Amino acid sequence: MRVAVGLALCMLLACVPTASAQFDPESLYAWPGDPVDSHVHMTWAALTLEVNEWADDHPDIVDLVSAGESELGKTLWVVRLSDWSMDTKPNGSSKEIVYIDGGHHGNEYLGTALAWLSAKWYIDGWVNGNEEAINVLQTTELHILIMLNPDGNDIDTRWNINQVDLNRNYDHYWNTCPTTQPGSSAFSEAETAANAAYINEYVTDADLYVTMHTGVWIILYPWGKWPEQPPDWELFWSIRDTVNAGISDIPLQNANQGLYPNCGTSRDYGYGQMGFPTFTFETDDEQFVPGSVENLNDRLGEEMDVMRYLIDNVWYWRARLVVQSITIDDDTLTLDVANHGEASTANASLEYHSPTGEVLWASSLFGVNATNSTVVSFEVDDDAFEGPGSWNLNYQKRVINAAIWVNETVDGNTTVMMVEEDEGGFLTGYGLFNPLAVILSLVGVSALVRREHDVEDALREGQSNSEH
Ligand SMILES: [Zn+2]
Repeated sequence: MRVAVGLALCMLLACVPTASAQFDPESLYAWPGDPVDSHVHMTWAALTLEVNEWADDHPDIVDLVSAGESELGKTLWVVRLSDWSMDTKPNGSSKEIVYIDGGHHGNEYLGTALAWLSAKWYIDGWVNGNEEAINVLQTTELHILIMLNPDGNDIDTRWNINQVDLNRNYDHYWNTCPTTQPGSSAFSEAETAANAAYINEYVTDADLYVTMHTGVWIILYPWGKWPEQPPDWELFWSIRDTVNAGISDIPLQNANQGLYPNCGTSRDYGYGQMGFPTFTFETDDEQFVPGSVENLNDRLGEEMDVMRYLIDNVWYWRARLVVQSITIDDDTLTLDVANHGEASTANASLEYHSPTGEVLWASSLFGVNATNSTVVSFEVDDDAFEGPGSWNLNYQKRVINAAIWVNETVDGNTTVMMVEEDEGGFLTGYGLFNPLAVILSLVGVSALVRREHDVEDALREGQSNSEH
């Protein structure tokens, strides 16, 4: 009905579709649903046709899989987007992983639409040669479960078919807040159990998880359970400041204070149990302006700007430690380590391994702040380093306990100095790995500083990335 009214208005006012900066909006952003009951509504059947069409038309970048079924047996489609001709980034390092879901609440259509658009934007960008989309798909896997609650979606209700609030049904402090209907136990519902199973099987390495809803216009980071800031507050605040400085005025707050205490949410589960940086993206409740046929890309344009920023910069949403130098001077080992990511890490350690992998020496634990570098010193017996070996750096990607561990062999080109006093009283240094280290020691600090920038450039390209 509203389509007809909108079209009539459009003809009267001779409106012209707003041209997208990059793509032809007429053909590319056609929402497969209809405006119904003041909502932009897409049935599960329409979504099913749409995502299968994507997979048929673009097998090079769309891998369509099922995460399971709803309580009524509807497939929970996950659209996996990447340049599938490559298992890795062009430089051989692992691709970044992003997880997105929409439609926990079946009557929050614009949230589902934002998840849909997050897939569609990159597909259309790839097809049209958009540089940003191509770069993202060559370096990143986007896993997008557009509609988690198809049973509720099709009958326009918040709940699933068992009258459960799926976003209170996750196994993270389940049912410990005054709450809406959380179910009989954590993961009692097919939809949440399937979502958690998918997350635990395919995206444990994700450095971004965004779950999409509607309500007030806000982006919420953990916790919903507690009013305190989360352990990785530096990361969340830095993202907030960048978004608010140049992309969108959308408020970015911790969920408990930004909204109200809530427990058993997918956001708190994703952060507290999986260790991901997680966000609940709430678009406002208004659907399309009455009588309009506004293009979905225009309606959600600002929200997509934020999503594109979060996805494009996923490389930064963790700690990324790089050893700048190791200096052993008699009984003191001094480690200079930089963090190129925007998350802090609390439990780092350096180890010296024999060629057979035996740990010959391990430092005590140390922390490195976000976007910072740290110099730490340890008492050592330098005999420990006389034999051949390699250096290993262990740390968690973020401060939260659940964050996964990174175990990296320190790049063989890293400057490692043994400083000893020779008979003439002069200090001599030599590299354990690389004769270049001796030269660097003579050239001095400026050369080391220059090298740091080279490392950073290389790292930005992911060339030295060997996390697992
Ligand atoms: Zn919701």
